Amino acid sequence: MSSTEKSSSDVSSSKLGMPGVPVFIPNLRARFPVAPRAALWKDVSDAEWTKWQWQQRNRVTTIDVLEKIIPVSPEERAVFEEVTCHFHMGITPYYASLIDPENPHCPIRQESVPSAAELHVLPTDMTDPLAEERDMPVPGLTHRYPDRVLFYVTHNCPVYCRHCTRKRKVADPSHSAMKKQLDDGIAYIAAHKEVRDVVVSGGDPLSLSDDRLDEILGRLRAIPHVEIIRLGTRNPVTLPQRITEDFVKMLSKHHPVFVNTHFNHPRECTAEAFEAARRLADAGCPIGNQMVLLRGVNDDPAIVKELNQKLLMMRIRPYYIYQCDLAKGIGHFRTKVSKGIEILQALRGYTSGLANPYFVIDAPDGGGKIPIIHNYVVSHEGNRLTLKNYCGKTYYYEEPQDEGEGEPSAKE
Ligand code: SF4
Repeated sequence: MSSTEKSSSDVSSSKLGMPGVPVFIPNLRARFPVAPRAALWKDVSDAEWTKWQWQQRNRVTTIDVLEKIIPVSPEERAVFEEVTCHFHMGITPYYASLIDPENPHCPIRQESVPSAAELHVLPTDMTDPLAEERDMPVPGLTHRYPDRVLFYVTHNCPVYCRHCTRKRKVADPSHSAMKKQLDDGIAYIAAHKEVRDVVVSGGDPLSLSDDRLDEILGRLRAIPHVEIIRLGTRNPVTLPQRITEDFVKMLSKHHPVFVNTHFNHPRECTAEAFEAARRLADAGCPIGNQMVLLRGVNDDPAIVKELNQKLLMMRIRPYYIYQCDLAKGIGHFRTKVSKGIEILQALRGYTSGLANPYFVIDAPDGGGKIPIIHNYVVSHEGNRLTLKNYCGKTYYYEEPQDEGEGEPSAKE
């Protein structure tokens, strides 16, 4: 936020150590700490630190810089080059500063720092586990479900998440969406009247400039049968500075625009992320969260509960928990499916229904999202259901009879 840009709810927060973050809900805001700043960047001015362009320009991409932020073991150094040959490293200074340098198992570190485990390819791993390329009628657009499409507009992201399902092309400049590809995608959508919902994704679409996004969203909005637009972005998590007042003003021209983001751990719920979500929500964007269940990061009911409760305070609705898919080199993140069910059971009844997302497996080979549920129906005999509630107590429910059922027959 520039010095001339003030929100109506802006109250000076300099006492809290973070210029530009409004203290508009003091009792809730206090639960969202301002992100620390690693020693490497302690002399960077606030004006630079809070600019997304500075964050983008100063991403950590080499092991020499990484080593100035966190200890790197000789083993990690030895495999770094090989791992990043397959999938680049890129970490914004903001996100890198969230890594606890004392904890080699820090969740933020696991999500962003390359590890030797990525080199272990399991027999079940796939290059394109969701068959997104197969279901492309034109390059850069997946059309699988009847009324919606997935439209890739860039393959860049501020942080290259180690668990990314699109490792096959994200961060690879040869896959960048060229003008012709974007034109062809928009022409396809315009020619298919059944498409009422466009998911704009990537990479991270917010890697494009406001003007470029404005143009793409404007062209989509000009198609009469496009009812809603969804933006899939991890910027609120990895580069919250990107969510400027100018950006949300631009978005609000194209409503209804839904934003789906991707928080995986409560440590990512900082004052900066809180502010990014506030701007999006104030601009009228409903926000949903798509968490990926990751071993060693969030495979713990208490962590997911804390995350989802924090998200609700940020006006972000927990929407999905994804079972980690079968992309190559992310096998070390995968949990048993039973872990996701255990998490669902620990949420249901124990916290707000709003904090209970769907747990889904995005089925290999393009099967789409399949909800995995815990069954609370113990039996269903006749019209009587036997149910177990969230804490294991048994209840019965008599459902209405079908028309004619139970009435005496003509012979009687
Ligand atoms: S932001 Fe999304 S697309 Fe980009 S690396 Fe992370 S998971 Fe992959």
